This record gives sequence, structure tokens and C-alpha cells, in this order.
Amino acid sequence: MEYSGEQFDVIVIGAGIMGSCAAYQLSKHGQKVVLLEQFDFLHQLGSSHGESRTIRATYPEDYYSDMVIESSRLWEEAESEIGYQVYIKTPQFDMGPKNNKSLQCVIENCKSSSLPCSVLDNKQVSEQFNGSFELPENWVGLLTQLGGVLKPTKAVSMFQTLALQKGATLRDNMEVIDIKMDYEMGGVYVSTSNGSMFRGKKCVVTIGAWMQKLVKMVSGKALPIQPLHTTICYWRIKKGHEEEFLVDNGFPTFASYSQPYIYGTPSCEFPGLIKIAVHGGYQCDPDNRTWASTEIEDSVYSWIEGIFSGRVDSTKPVFTQSCMYSMTPDGDFVIDFLGGEFGKDVVIAGGFSGHGFKMGPVVGRVLADLVINGEAQGVDLSYFRLGRFEENPKGNVKEFEDQVQSYELLPV
Ligand SMILES: Cc1cc2nc3c(=O)[nH]c(=O)nc-3n(C[C@H](O)[C@H](O)[C@H](O)COP(=O)(O)OP(=O)(O)OC[C@H]3O[C@@H](n4cnc5c(N)ncnc54)[C@H](O)[C@@H]3O)c2cc1C
Repeated sequence: MEYSGEQFDVIVIGAGIMGSCAAYQLSKHGQKVVLLEQFDFLHQLGSSHGESRTIRATYPEDYYSDMVIESSRLWEEAESEIGYQVYIKTPQFDMGPKNNKSLQCVIENCKSSSLPCSVLDNKQVSEQFNGSFELPENWVGLLTQLGGVLKPTKAVSMFQTLALQKGATLRDNMEVIDIKMDYEMGGVYVSTSNGSMFRGKKCVVTIGAWMQKLVKMVSGKALPIQPLHTTICYWRIKKGHEEEFLVDNGFPTFASYSQPYIYGTPSCEFPGLIKIAVHGGYQCDPDNRTWASTEIEDSVYSWIEGIFSGRVDSTKPVFTQSCMYSMTPDGDFVIDFLGGEFGKDVVIAGGFSGHGFKMGPVVGRVLADLVINGEAQGVDLSYFRLGRFEENPKGNVKEFEDQVQSYELLPV
């Protein structure tokens, strides 16, 4: 086994958005960090690649909004450090039937927070967006100013570059196969499938859809994190309407609390096309994917036709991209110490359940705090504890319906 003899303060495993942000934050705080990735950096086989992710502070759970506000500030800070843009601001528009419980909670949370927001009926929505959004009569809209599009691959590259500039070591094609406590020297050692070994005082595991597999292997713990294969669809905007769907003309990022939950971003990365996707997917093994596209329900075609009043070609998507979610039963993250023999020396962060990208910077900050201080301020981590699934297999109890249906865990 190849061991360089170099001792790190922290070994970060997994170079998606979470690991890259953690490596950046830890290096910024003077820690000697190595970031290990199983594939090439910036690959497309996990969850953090592609052209667009939404940032919004509108959540039915009241504990996410402040995290988004902090994250938004940290996104801007990182942009000004690197000198280029990965965060394109535009308002966020949420919509749905007036009696939808999740949307009602979103609206209540917004009203009781510091976020400027307006609740609009269908006529006001039509006026606000010059007819680009047309809601049914029994629907309501919520417009908030904290929204926008994040550029995922570019953003991951940005945090890796910033980490590198602050002294981090970055190593790709390093598939971690084991993490062990070093009872003689203290800390942990991490071994990879190509025979390398790394020693660190602490370890952060941010391996997305592979979390369940590696954690089971190293600790025997079965985490309820189910990988889902999901598909993003791009649709053609009809001739003459392309400009209406641009950020420059005030077109927002959007989410629809109907069945199914549909979300999208303004026309941005591919001229003349708009991203409209369904929040969900089918269970998969991250090492053995079929790559089949998710099926599009009839209700999605009719939603596009009706909401965009015939301005988007709803016959079929022009093209699709694949990605993976890591779902927990309650849709909440897992951010905790691994515990057991690893105690507080190994921190895990996963189960981002299809809404984690925007949180990368704040999660990176929290992970750095947990490693350096053994605790994190400013975020209530009780919602993200691993132990919640021992108390209740479904995790945190919610007073509204899930946005993504729950799945039986596939065996690992
Ligand atoms: C289609 C889609 C749309 C989304 N839309 C949004 C959105 O609009 N807004 C939003 O906020 N979020 C969104 N998300 C969610 C967000 O993208 C994810 O929550 C986030 O990217 C998860 O990042 P991660 O770092 O945990 O996982 P990943 O990006 O998968 O990173 C984990 C990394 O660990 C590596 N790894 C795994 N095992 C090992 C090992 N043994 N050794 C070394 N490396 C390993 C993997 O190769 C991978 O690079 C979306 C996700 C998808 C799929």
C-alpha cells in the first residue's frame, strides 16, 4: 500500500459541491486538507454537475430559510474571491392550489421571516409576468426576491480552485474503500482501491449517492439514504416568445406545488430552451445505473401547456440530462458525526434529497465548524441528526405532504 507519509489535518472524501465547499472552508481556516474523488474531477456521474440549479429561500420547513440566506451571502463572497459569476440572481416564484398544505407553510414561513415577499392571485400573476405565467383560478402565487440560478459544474470548479489556492491538496481517481481509526497514532487512515493511503486527524465524508454503501462497509451502520436516478428536461420556447423567458426580462426560477412537484429555471444555458423538470425519479444503484430516462406523466405536458399559455412547446422535451438524488425518508439532510468507534473524528454529510446544491457553502461552513470546534453555530443541526431515524424510521415529522414520494430502501 502506497503511503506518502504526509499527515493531513482533514481528509475530505467526495468532491461534489459539499466536499469542495468543505475543503475550501477548512483550508480557509488554516487546516491542512486533502480532497479525494473517486472519478475525474468535475465528472457527470454524481449530483453536482450540469448547467443550472435553483437557489430559493422558500421552504415549507422553517429551518431552511436562514441557511439559504447565509449560503447566498457565502456564494457572493466566493464569487468575489474568484472574480467570476456562478450565481445569476432573479426572483423565485412559487405557485400551487390555494389549499395545498406545503405551499401554505411556505407562505406562512415567508411572511414570518425577513424575506420580502408578495402573495398574488391569478390576475396579479398574469400582470406581473405579462402573461408568461397563467394560473388556474383556485391557484395562488408567491413572489420572493431571493432566487436565482447557480451554475453547478462551474461552481464546484470554483470551490476546488479556491481550496487549492488556500493550500488544499486535490487528488482525483482515488476511490476510498476503507476508513479506519488509527489507535496507535490517533486520527484516521483512509485507503483507496488503487493502493494509496492517507492519514488525517479527522475525516469528512461527502460522497452523495454512495454514502449508504461506504458507511455500511466501514461502520456497519445502515443509513436510510436512497439514490434515485432523475432526469432534467429542456423544452423549446415557441418562436417570438424567447425573450420573455430571460432573467433580463424578470423571468423567475419557479416551483409548482401541484402533483407532481414541478420546478424550473429561466431560459439561460441553452438559447431558446427552458428547463422544466419533475422532482423525483426511480431507485438506482449508483455503480450500476441503467440510465433510462424517467417517464413523463401526462399531467406534466398539460401543466406546461396551461401555465405557460401555449408559449412553450409541450409535445416533448428537446433533450434530457441525467443526475442522482440521495433521498432520506423525510427529505431532510444528514449532517452529523459518524459516532461509534469513530466518535467525533469522522463527520458525514449526505442525503441532500434533491435540494442541497444551494446549501453547499453553508454546509461547507458547518462541516468546517464541526471538524475544528466539535460543534456548529447558527444552524439547528437537530433536524439533520443521524439518530432521528432510530427514534422514528420516517425521521422528522412534517405537517404537510412530501414533495417526493418515499421509497423502500434497496439492499446495499
Ligand atoms: C437533477 C437534479 C436537480 C437538482 N436541482 C437542485 C436545485 O435546483 N437546487 C438545489 O439546491 N439542489 C438541487 N439538486 C440537488 C443537488 O444537486 C445535490 O443535493 C448536491 O449536488 C449533492 O452534492 P453532494 O456533494 O452531496 O453529492 P455529489 O455531487 O454526488 O458528490 C459526491 C462525490 O463523492 C464522490 N464519491 C463517492 N464515493 C466515493 C468514494 N468511495 N471515494 C471517493 N469519492 C467518492 C462521487 O464520485 C461524487 O463526486 C438537484 C439534483 C439533481 C440530481
